[in-house]
Amino acid sequence: MKSHWLQFLIAACLIHLTSAQTTCKCLSFQPCWPSASDFSNLASRLSQPLIRPTPPASACYPPSHPSGDCTDVLAHLDDGPWHDNLPGAMQSINFENFTFDNETINACHYNTTLGYPCDQGNIPIIGVDARTVGDIQAGVSFAAKHNLKLVIKNTGHDYLGRSMTRGGFMLWTHNLKNITYNECFVQDGAPSNSPTYQALTLGAGGWILGGGHSPLSPSYGLVIDNVLQFTLVLASGEHVTANAYQNEDLFWALRGGGGGTFQWLPFTSFSLSVNFSTPDIVQNVTTEYFAMLPELSNAGWGGFAFMPQGKLLARFFASNESLVQGNATFSSFLASAQAAVPNPQDFGVFPESFPSFYDAYLAFFNVTGQVGGTNEFVSRLVSLEIAKDQPEKVSKAALGVSNGVTFIFVAGGAVSRANPDSAGLNPAWREALGLLVSDAASDLEVLDTVSPNSGTYFNEASLYEKDFKTTFFGSHYAQLNNDDLFLVAEGVGSDDWDKSLICRL
Ligand SMILES: Cc1cc2nc3c(=O)[nH]c(=O)nc-3n(C[C@H](O)[C@H](O)[C@H](O)COP(=O)(O)OP(=O)(O)OC[C@H]3O[C@@H](n4cnc5c(N)ncnc54)[C@H](O)[C@@H]3O)c2cc1C
Repeated sequence: MKSHWLQFLIAACLIHLTSAQTTCKCLSFQPCWPSASDFSNLASRLSQPLIRPTPPASACYPPSHPSGDCTDVLAHLDDGPWHDNLPGAMQSINFENFTFDNETINACHYNTTLGYPCDQGNIPIIGVDARTVGDIQAGVSFAAKHNLKLVIKNTGHDYLGRSMTRGGFMLWTHNLKNITYNECFVQDGAPSNSPTYQALTLGAGGWILGGGHSPLSPSYGLVIDNVLQFTLVLASGEHVTANAYQNEDLFWALRGGGGGTFQWLPFTSFSLSVNFSTPDIVQNVTTEYFAMLPELSNAGWGGFAFMPQGKLLARFFASNESLVQGNATFSSFLASAQAAVPNPQDFGVFPESFPSFYDAYLAFFNVTGQVGGTNEFVSRLVSLEIAKDQPEKVSKAALGVSNGVTFIFVAGGAVSRANPDSAGLNPAWREALGLLVSDAASDLEVLDTVSPNSGTYFNEASLYEKDFKTTFFGSHYAQLNNDDLFLVAEGVGSDDWDKSLICRL
C-alpha cells in the first residue's frame, strides 16, 4: 500500500530526473554523491540543520577513550523512546548492521570487547530532519534529482529493517509530532451536506501505512479503516490531499475509503496464566482458546497470547464490555481451563477495568524491554473460518512451533466487516482472526499448515518470503504499481532490483 502511494509519486519524479541517470542508485561512498555545495544548497532550504546519523554505539569507541557516554547508551538499550530519538538507531539493533554477500559485517557493535572498529553499518550518513511540508519537499526533490537511495525513517520500529539503508539519504520524519483535535472535521472536497467527524490530525508512519492493528481492531477495525484523509508530498514536490473525494486511487492505495470517530470508553482486560502438566491438556485447552476467539472478536475483544512450552499466557481487551459482561463471556472457557489443571497455583486469572484505553495503555504497553534486541520473524494470518471449524488444527500448529508462538488476536470483528477491496491492504486480513508469529525461520512450514495461502502482515514478517507479492499483498498486488525512488525490501516492484535495491535488473 505504501509502495503504491510512493509509486504514484514516481510518475512525476521521472520528469524531474536528468538524462545522466543510470540504472543504479548513487551511494554515499561513490563519486556521484552530491558535493558539499549541493548539500549546503539543500540546507539553505530547510527549517533545521542537516542531520548526520551516527551508530548509537559510536559513543563507546574507541573503547580505551570513549567519545561519549557509553554507560548511558548501554543503559537505554531496551528503551523504545530513546531509540526513537536517534536517527541512527533501530529498535531491533540487528538492522543497524550491514552484512556483505561474503557474510562479513560492517557495524558498530554495542559489545566493544569483540575488538572490531566502529563502522557506519546500514546507517545513512546524512539526511533531512523533516519538520514542515517544505522540508519534505526539499528532501524528496534532492533525492530524486541526484538519484540517491532515499530512505524514510520515523521511529525505526520496522521488523524488516526498511527504515535504514547503507549509503543512502535519510528523510527523518520522527519530529513531525503535532497532534491536533478537530471537533467537526470535514474532508476536503466533501459535498456540503456531508457528515462531520471528531478527528485527530497526526503524522503518519509505517504503522498506519501498513494497516495498523491493536487490541481495539476487533471493535473498530484496523487503523486504516479509521483514516479520513491523508495529506502528502509527491516526488514531484507537490503537496496533495487524498480522501474519498480527491485522489481516490491514491487514498485506496494508502488505505481505502470510509471514515471513523474516536470515543473515550472504559476499558476491560482479562489476563490469564496457565501452566500445563501434560501435552494432551495443553492441546485441549489451546484448542478451546482458539475455538472461542471468532465469537469474542465479534463482541469486540482483541488481545495477545504467548505459548511457550507447557504454558498459555493470554491477555484480552475490550472497550465496550464491563467486567461483569467479561466474566460472563469468559466463564465457560475459564471453568474448563481451570478444571484441566489439577494444581490451583498453575491457574491464574486477573480481571481489571480501566477508565479509558489510555489508562490500560499505560498499565500494559508503556513498558521498556520490548526493543534493543535482534529480531527476525516468520508469521502467518490465521483464517477465521479455520479457527471456527478446525481449532485443533490451529492449536497443533501453534504448539508445534519451536520456541513458543505468539498469537496476535487483532482481527475478526470489525476488521472482517470492512469491504476487502476498500483498501490496498492484503485482502487476507478481512478473513483473518489474527497473526501467528515465531522467531525461528524454520517454523514457517508449521505455520503454513494452518491456512495455506493465508498471507501475512508485512510489518511483522520475514525478509525472506518465497513469494512476497502474494503473501504480503494478495490479489491487490496487481493493482499496485512499480516505483523507483521509494523502494523498500519486499515492497512493490522491489523484485525488479538487485537484492540491495541499488541497481535495476
Ligand atoms: C516493539 C514493537 C511493537 C509493535 N507493535 C505493533 C502493533 O501493536 N501493531 C502493529 O500494527 N504493528 C506493530 N509493530 C510493527 C510496526 O507497525 C511496524 O514496525 C511499522 O512499520 C513501524 O512504523 P514506523 O514508521 O514507526 O517505523 P519505521 O521503522 O521508522 O518505518 C517503517 C516503514 O515505514 C516507512 N515510513 C515511515 N514513515 C513514513 C512516512 N511518513 N511516509 C512514507 N513511509 C514512511 C519507512 O520507510 C519504513 O519502510 C510493532 C513493532 C515493534 C518493533
